[in-house]
Amino acid sequence: MSSFIRLDRRKHESFLADHCYDPTTKELLKVGDEVCICAHCKSPHLKSVWLSAKLCPSCRNESKRTLTEIPNTKNLNNFLKKTETSVVQSNYKGYFIFFLIASLIGGIVSVSFYSESEKWKEKYRGKYLEVNNLNSKISNLTNTTSQLSSEKNNIRQQLNDAETELDKYEELKILANKLSFTTGIKYEDRKNYPLKYGNNKAKVYFTVNYPINFNSVKIDADGSGYIYGYIYDLYDNKVCEAYNGTVTNGVESLTFNCALEKGSYYLTHSGNTDLGFIENFNKYPFSDNIISITRTQYDSKYYMNFFEWSYKLDLKTD
Ligand SMILES: [Zn+2]
Repeated sequence: MSSFIRLDRRKHESFLADHCYDPTTKELLKVGDEVCICAHCKSPHLKSVWLSAKLCPSCRNESKRTLTEIPNTKNLNNFLKKTETSVVQSNYKGYFIFFLIASLIGGIVSVSFYSESEKWKEKYRGKYLEVNNLNSKISNLTNTTSQLSSEKNNIRQQLNDAETELDKYEELKILANKLSFTTGIKYEDRKNYPLKYGNNKAKVYFTVNYPINFNSVKIDADGSGYIYGYIYDLYDNKVCEAYNGTVTNGVESLTFNCALEKGSYYLTHSGNTDLGFIENFNKYPFSDNIISITRTQYDSKYYMNFFEWSYKLDLKTD
């Protein structure tokens, strides 16, 4: 009579931990299975296998005697361990084959995805290139935008600086407009030159480099009478006139008080009184950067009639 043992989780803990297999079916012996241990070779067998076999399937022993208890695992037949090893080996083989197949499938799948994506690219190559093109344009525009933004900040800074400068300039203009300037030979210096008198109505040409308010000139009247002063532009349009009533012998002023824009003009007069003028002057242009007296209609050796030209700047302010 064979004796069978039902595998119990607690009673056969160490046996179960060894993961023994039935040598015939290769089935794992687990909790609840009825097994027997061949008394001859110490191999465990499933009850159903043992009953249907005439000999011990492991050692071919005819007696078919069995143990009543599961012995210590160490006492089990080496065959078990061989079985285990071979099972494990065959499992490694299985894994290897599985991985081989998996990688093959993976390869096929990725090749097929790759070729699909190539087909897609081919089909939509135009669009694909357009997108690339647009991406590159976007990138360029982004760079340009950042450059322009930095330039803008730079210019804004320059504008701020310029505005500050402009404010200073405005203040300077206001100050400058308050100042009185004179140019030409000073009245008291006329006698340093050979002085003559005559009623010659000479034209004295001059240019104005900034807008000014032309105030007055001095004349050296030889006797009394009347004198009109005139300023004309180069097209002979009268721009200003001065008449102060009867002049007496000696120094007199002709007062114009007229605005002159930047440009070229000539100064002349009419009247019945002789005026003093200089011979052997020869120093044209007589310039102070704002007004430049350039010449007369005569030879450049003459300085004619009008001394101490007085004016103020008339710079436009905000
Ligand atoms: Zn046996």
